[in-house]
Amino acid sequence: MESKVRLGPASAEEYAQQEAGFASIMATLAKARTIAICAHTSPDGDALGSQLGLALIIEALWPQTEVRVLLADERPAPHIYSFLPGFERLEQPSAYEDDPDVFVAVDLSDPRRLHEAQAVCERAGKVVVIDHHPPVEGFGDAKVVRTGAAAVGVIIAELALFAGVELTPDIAQNLMCAIVTDTGRFQYQNADGEAFRAASLLVDSGASPSQISLHVYESFGLPFLHLKSLVLGRITTFEQGRIAYSYATQSDFERTGANLDECDGLIDAVRSVEGSQIALFLKAVPGGKVRGNLRSKGDHDVSCVAQMMGGGGHKAAAGFTFEGSVDEALVSVLPSLRKLLHGQDEDGECQSGQTVQDGAQ
Ligand code: 5GP
Ligand code: MN
Repeated sequence: MESKVRLGPASAEEYAQQEAGFASIMATLAKARTIAICAHTSPDGDALGSQLGLALIIEALWPQTEVRVLLADERPAPHIYSFLPGFERLEQPSAYEDDPDVFVAVDLSDPRRLHEAQAVCERAGKVVVIDHHPPVEGFGDAKVVRTGAAAVGVIIAELALFAGVELTPDIAQNLMCAIVTDTGRFQYQNADGEAFRAASLLVDSGASPSQISLHVYESFGLPFLHLKSLVLGRITTFEQGRIAYSYATQSDFERTGANLDECDGLIDAVRSVEGSQIALFLKAVPGGKVRGNLRSKGDHDVSCVAQMMGGGGHKAAAGFTFEGSVDEALVSVLPSLRKLLHGQDEDGECQSGQTVQDGAQ
């Protein structure tokens, strides 16, 4: 019998389900003449690496098909990812005026997270979803959504194996960046055997972890580092150090000249406090709003607090957007974090153990 490389998932049932999903995705893509691939708003390494890697895989399979890679927002993609092969292909949604035969949404299951690109999705003939977030009913004509996958990059690597596409160094580098960033450099709870198996295959195929590390984690501008020092300087803990939070205000950005998009990693600085179980980072964003990042290092499910704040996410990593000031956001969210820590759920708003997973981004 021919031996096939198999990265995951571990359970036979999930594997069979994923293979069936891949088959239906392949059938959908095979019929398309034009394909648009898009990921979520405020794209991270998994979003960008997965969509760029997938574009190359589709082009290897069907060279005649027009494949375009869209951003969800009109803003440019974060500069730290400009080393990714094909980064220059990323287009803002307003540049896409056609109706694609197929729209592929990666790293999101809620179409609202497509922001401005949602209009392109609505004009598409068919929608394919490849994701690891809790699924939203009715979104996607063909899909693989597996909340147990550490990164969408893992699923796309498995899709390439399914389709028999050779993992070129460019595909490998994109998918490796997806996995490195979504596992927090293999340090979060989601860094499982499957993620390591995929990473091993990708490095053997030409991915360079050191280049990814250099660009994503070791190339910060001084404005960002000065902002980080402000954020570190005001980390506050309560509940005997078990809840840690910090924030960056509009005037911090003005003072330091730091760029909003560079701030993704600041929640990691907050979560690094010894003994902290729940971490919160807030940053002021344009339009009088605040973006919140929540992380859990233990069993507390921060996604339910994010949901109460109008956002969502996973047990160990979730986020939300709040209308108001940083002060107002703190007043609103800190009591909920205290309740979460004590397992109090008198409002019945925090039902844990549903579709959430550890640490997926
Ligand atoms: P981050 O804190 O890195 O922005 O987000 C962590 C995870 O929380 C994301 O991968 C996503 O799953 C989820 N998330 C963040 N913000 C939102 C939001 O506004 N809505 C929803 N549904 N999920 C979010
Ligand atoms: Mn992801």
